[in-house]
Amino acid sequence: MQTTATLTARERAVTQTYWPLIRGYLVVSFVYYLALTIAHFFHLLGDLSVPYFFAVAPSSLLLGAMTLHCRKPGSIRQLIMVTSVVHGVVLFNTIAGLTIDFNEDKLVYFLIIAMIFAFTSLSQWQAVIASAVAMIALAFEISIHDTQRGVMYAFLALGAAIASSALSYYLRGIIISIAEAEEAAQIARTKAEKRMSEAQTSARLMKKNAMSDSLTGLPNRRAFFDVLEQQVASEAEGWVILMDLDGFKHVNDTYGHVMGDEVLKAVSFRSRRYCEDMCAMSRLGGDEFGAVLNTSMSEEELVEWAQGLLSRLAQIYPIEGRYIQISASIGCCRISHAGSETELFQNADFALLHAKRSGKNRVVTFDDEQARAFAQRFKIEQGLRSAKLKEHIWLRFQPQFCLRTNRIVRAEALARWEHPELGPVMPQLFIEVAEECGLITKLTLAVIEQAIEIVRTQGHELPLSINLSANDLNANQATDAIVRMLDEHSFDPRLLEFEVTETAMLNDLERATQNLKRLAQRGHPIAIDDFGTGYSNYEMLLSLPIDKIKIDRAFIQNPQNPRTEKILRSMVEIARALEVECLLEGVEDELGLLLARRVGLGLVQGYHISRPCSLEALHQLELYSAAG
Ligand code: C2E
Ligand code: CA
Ligand code: CA
Repeated sequence: MQTTATLTARERAVTQTYWPLIRGYLVVSFVYYLALTIAHFFHLLGDLSVPYFFAVAPSSLLLGAMTLHCRKPGSIRQLIMVTSVVHGVVLFNTIAGLTIDFNEDKLVYFLIIAMIFAFTSLSQWQAVIASAVAMIALAFEISIHDTQRGVMYAFLALGAAIASSALSYYLRGIIISIAEAEEAAQIARTKAEKRMSEAQTSARLMKKNAMSDSLTGLPNRRAFFDVLEQQVASEAEGWVILMDLDGFKHVNDTYGHVMGDEVLKAVSFRSRRYCEDMCAMSRLGGDEFGAVLNTSMSEEELVEWAQGLLSRLAQIYPIEGRYIQISASIGCCRISHAGSETELFQNADFALLHAKRSGKNRVVTFDDEQARAFAQRFKIEQGLRSAKLKEHIWLRFQPQFCLRTNRIVRAEALARWEHPELGPVMPQLFIEVAEECGLITKLTLAVIEQAIEIVRTQGHELPLSINLSANDLNANQATDAIVRMLDEHSFDPRLLEFEVTETAMLNDLERATQNLKRLAQRGHPIAIDDFGTGYSNYEMLLSLPIDKIKIDRAFIQNPQNPRTEKILRSMVEIARALEVECLLEGVEDELGLLLARRVGLGLVQGYHISRPCSLEALHQLELYSAAG
């Protein structure tokens, strides 16, 4: 292999270097014999022009044909043949010339011929053979003609042949080695270039692979963040949009993952087509997509554009003989100079989450107010998930005051929580978040555990009231857990009352009623909280095992308004009809208290009696000790 390769390289070097020389030799010879042909044709060179013409004319014809034929460099063999033919023509014409008209001086031609042959031959062998033939021809001429200086010419020609051959031998060696070196360098260059371009191609491919998603061919998460980074750095106006398919899990579960992949591909294809002029839709992973829009679009324009995308995606997908429909939700955030990429992404993600939670198949943009609320809720959620939640929950107690006996008869236990990072969090807020993320029963159990501890130590000194959430009653497991906890301790169930709002009962009235009855049957009093604000259904009130209604504090916000008194009176009537106790919440002053007495209420609760306070503070209340 090695030898062949070097040989071809050498051959190429030789042919390339010698080609111009050989062609020059051919062309010059052709021109020379053509000129002679013309000259002899017009009898310009003496009386013997006619025989001369018949010698040179075919020579020039032959050389002309060869000149036309050999326009491109050929192989070494071809070159040797060409030179041999030209050598032959030259020799033939010299001999012909001498034969037609011998002249001793013309023997000098052999000297020139010897030199030309030596220099134009491609190898030393060719040079030696050509020179030898010329020398033989010379010897022949000398032998048949009577010459005086023939021997001298023979020696001169021989000397010229030897000298030229030796000289051309060395020259050829040098030329070939230079050509070889050049050829080798050229080969090395070509190889290097080839390798370089291969490396460039594979680097491009690698970059493309690293930046694109293999399933859909869309740019991937990395590419998305690259673009986002550039957009933020350029300080140009724009939007980040995140898109998530609604119910994609269902597609996977119902039709299998292969079909799921097809749906993803189809969604990607449509998204790419829709976004083409605006941005590049990227697949961030799973069924989540994202894009960065470099545009000064207003919020309305953006929402309209994004809604267009959603309706495009919601059209039916015919895939493998099935007809699949899927919707998506989009969250957007304006790229302002203030935010980092991560912040922008998080904000768009919050918007997306909001879109998902507020019913899906919609576009939600992110604004600052939402940002804070969401970030806070997110942290609250994380905090509530902590295993140590129980240790961070404690209780405050707000007394319920009996207007007939003038004593505190019960206290409502209200949960308090301090977030390790955010500090104390408003109960309404953390309870709402706990309800949203299904953590409320964990909280309820923590409250009940502490309340049981208190009633077990305080006994009839201090009955408590505990708030239940919709989730605590709508899921059987939640109520099971509560009942289990209650069963674990022995105490008078009348000491622990449960408060529940009408709205909490509504989700699944039947189940909630059933679960509430389980508590009532254990002997726990049941109170309807925030009475009058929710959806009051007379039938519902009749079917529930109620012991008390707690009129919401909204009803006493305008104590001077004559209507307040009328309404309160009618509520007292309802309680009487239902044969349950009636409590007014939110009694903040003397006026409220007077009103409560006037309308015939049995119980009040509110800041006027006491704010929610610690157990110790509760015991120090005058009203409490009076009761004791
Ligand atoms: P709620 O059950 O209606 O509790 C009464 C709320 O009204 C308490 O707010 C209390 O501080 C407030 N309040 C009492 N008297 C007055 C008054 O005279 N004027 C005014 N303006 N407000 C008064 P808090 O403690 O912030 O609790 C808010 C809500 O959080 C409670 O409303 C209840 O729905 C919920 N909550 C509190 N603790 C728990 C709990 O352990 N479990 C559940 N599920 N919910 C709880
Ligand atoms: Ca309550
Ligand atoms: Ca209430």
